[in-house]
Amino acid sequence: MVSLMVCSRCGTGYNLRDLVWRCRCGGYLSCPSVTDFGKEKIGKDEGSFWRYSHAIAGSPSEIAAYFGEGMTPLIESRIMPRVRYKLDFLFPSGSFKDRGTAVLVNALKAAGITQVIEDSSGNAGSSIAMYCARAGIDVKIYVPQETPQAKKAQIRAYGGTVVEIEGDREETARRSRQDASRSFYASHNWQPLFIEGVKTFALEIWEQMNFTVPRCIVMPVGYGSLVLGAYKAYFELLSSGQISSIPRLFGVQPQNIAPLFGAFQRQEREVLKPVSVQGPTKAGALACRMPVRSREILRAFRETKGAVEIVSEEEIDESVKELGSEGIFVEPSSAVAVAGLKKLRYSGQIREDEDVVVPLTGTGLKALEHQ
Ligand SMILES: [Zn+2]
Repeated sequence: MVSLMVCSRCGTGYNLRDLVWRCRCGGYLSCPSVTDFGKEKIGKDEGSFWRYSHAIAGSPSEIAAYFGEGMTPLIESRIMPRVRYKLDFLFPSGSFKDRGTAVLVNALKAAGITQVIEDSSGNAGSSIAMYCARAGIDVKIYVPQETPQAKKAQIRAYGGTVVEIEGDREETARRSRQDASRSFYASHNWQPLFIEGVKTFALEIWEQMNFTVPRCIVMPVGYGSLVLGAYKAYFELLSSGQISSIPRLFGVQPQNIAPLFGAFQRQEREVLKPVSVQGPTKAGALACRMPVRSREILRAFRETKGAVEIVSEEEIDESVKELGSEGIFVEPSSAVAVAGLKKLRYSGQIREDEDVVVPLTGTGLKALEHQ
């Protein structure tokens, strides 16, 4: 039997029923590349992102938890020329995380998994709770205590159990893994099927732009699933002969917690230890001191001639307001990307004549205490 997931370090193969979240050697798992995808393999009769099933490793033949998800609008900015927004806050749970969760939870359901635990700063937790409710899977979500009320309420509304942990995001992850011996640890940061789902973000842009790619994509980055999904999707389209180049990928972090920015500046290959926190940030969804797949994330920026930018809390506020004036209400973690794009253009790292897509990842209703 072909393995669905392979260790990035030693090459050992695993399947979902093995209940592993990383390799026994400590390496993280990845799904093999799909290199035979093309527009003729898009399921044109399917209105949701499941039209790209052929490009998604582990995509089950039956979708138990279905919301007609994806195919979010791609619209032009009214303020910035040659910039388009991908409205991913319109997903059913209010965040782009539904892309990864949809694929992961449906694959778990198909594999007969009945109990799942996960840790989250909130968005992935509510997304997993939502899909598990639909699929009939029991779910327990570990969150840091300071997680916004709206996110905790949303998890509970879906019937999920919320376990609040005193401590930061890393401590929350550690505690949930301690409990993961009997349930499936559905970590969106470790499980490669999550990244398979996030690939649909890039596939949609490709189809919406009439099977072409933008010159640049500017994304908020915490644990980096959006960057990894975009890079893998475009790499696979390139390998399949569908596009001739990969967009330049840029990541933006809050300056108070910016491990990838520091590593990129110093031309390091990975983040080797948790970065120190310079202060609080409104961009709670990006509060990650040490991303699991930093090596892959940094490589994606480097190989596509992209970069990492940082933004201050004031710059985040300003972008939340500017987006509001365009009729768009997003959480501060999403506005980070727009704030970063302005700086990247100002410094000339992105030229005025380069077209840009910015994903707007989470609804403003998720973080009302910061508005
Ligand atoms: Zn291994």
